[in-house]
Amino acid sequence: MHWADVIAEDIAKNCEEPLIATGISPTGIIHVGSLREAITGESVRSAVKGLGKNVRLIYLIDSYDPLRKRYDFLPKEFEQYVGMPISNIPCPCGKHKNYAHHYVQPFLDAVDSLGVQCEIIWTHELYEQGLFAETIDMAMNKREQVIKILSEVTGKEENPNYAPYTPICSACGRFTQPIFETYEFPYIEYECTCGNRGKDDIREGKGKLTWRCEWPAKWKIFGTSAEPFGKDHAAAGGSYDTGVRIVKEIYDGVPPYPIPYEFVQLKGVGQMHKSLGSPVTGLDAINMTPPEVLNYLFLRVNPSRAIDYDSGMGVLDMADEYDRMERLFFEGEYTEAEEDSVRAYEIAQHNRTPEKLPNQISCRHLVNVAQMAPTFEGVLEILKRNGNISDMTPAETKRLARRVECVRYWLNGFAPDIVKFSVCNTVPPGIELSMAEKAFLQALSVRLYDCIWDAETIGATIADTAKESPVGLKGGYSTLYRILIGKKSGPRLGNFLADMDKSFVVNRVVQASN
Ligand SMILES: [Zn+2]
Ligand SMILES: [Zn+2]
Repeated sequence: MHWADVIAEDIAKNCEEPLIATGISPTGIIHVGSLREAITGESVRSAVKGLGKNVRLIYLIDSYDPLRKRYDFLPKEFEQYVGMPISNIPCPCGKHKNYAHHYVQPFLDAVDSLGVQCEIIWTHELYEQGLFAETIDMAMNKREQVIKILSEVTGKEENPNYAPYTPICSACGRFTQPIFETYEFPYIEYECTCGNRGKDDIREGKGKLTWRCEWPAKWKIFGTSAEPFGKDHAAAGGSYDTGVRIVKEIYDGVPPYPIPYEFVQLKGVGQMHKSLGSPVTGLDAINMTPPEVLNYLFLRVNPSRAIDYDSGMGVLDMADEYDRMERLFFEGEYTEAEEDSVRAYEIAQHNRTPEKLPNQISCRHLVNVAQMAPTFEGVLEILKRNGNISDMTPAETKRLARRVECVRYWLNGFAPDIVKFSVCNTVPPGIELSMAEKAFLQALSVRLYDCIWDAETIGATIADTAKESPVGLKGGYSTLYRILIGKKSGPRLGNFLADMDKSFVVNRVVQASN
């Protein structure tokens, strides 16, 4: 049974209308691992939905978190905002509502393109609406008890200065320590390090619960039934463990079913953007991996297992595996070992599985086609000419267009040089061919002219002609690469030439043989 189905059954057993929560802290550039959280949440949602339950998935943006430091990617003047909530800090580019929006918007677009069906909730708005007031009051009133729980669970000494809630200073805009002794609902007083003293109403969103008290407060507010979270929070004595006790003993609530997930590791030499020199971000992963494939990547293994994201050839391997599982799903025949992967394919469709096998154009093939045609129309023309596509549904065209975009992004930033080429408009200058090579091309031009223009026949024609010639198989192949792309090697010739116009190829071979 697929892991998402196991979790879904557990959740559905105890809950009539389950709510699954996921979230993100948009304080900076978003890592590939954040995608795992969103997709894990969505997969459980769709599996629960498949059991006939009325289920919701919420996506909580921690827009009220403080900016912890000025990160290297931020301009110098951002030093002044350290310690302020990111929803109150201006956006670095000037085009977004605030800092939180700036960093989370591309990610929200991505989550949308991945088909994740969630409700977006901004934490700073929950505070402004006073939704945290009850839990803030409880945590402040039972502060001694909170301190005891934290110490017992983490094994650290009790911290008498621990603040479950930090008000925002009205003078400097930073989170600051409250005065515990004078707290009386709904007013909290503080004395900031900037010298300002103030008094605020906890119902007005002028402060926030600190992390270990805020997370369980969200469980209480939403009645969260299940939540995926990074394994760092799941460690013994970590914030899930303290959250469980705080939600029960302080807030009189129930903890969610935990779905801890392992990190996503970036693998191999392909993990840096070639021209920018920056590591692969979550957005890079979205831009170069077709959404259906990215969904599948996170679903094929249990959340407790680490995932290697290989931005080199791994992107193509993964897309090929996805296509294979798609074929198996529609054929309906597969081994027991493939069962979970086929189910992962199905869950990756978010309850919207196509009715029949979609037209599959592999990313591997598109790597070649995209390098021959600079526009999507050009790509379509090639694929139509060689019979790869005929009648396409709008959904199939959309999927193909997205795949082409992903392949182009990958070629520009991450693809190994070995797969890159550009077809020269004429025989590349400076190429010297031997008499034997010219004779080979001459013989080949005649045979190609008569040959049926499909990959298999072309491949066989080239191989036969080369074997009969003194240049041999290897020499024949490299001669063709040299006159077409000016390199000694390239994509598999049968497929490669089949994607090109027949007369273009024949003319080139004739030209070079003279
Ligand atoms: Zn911006
Ligand atoms: Zn202050």
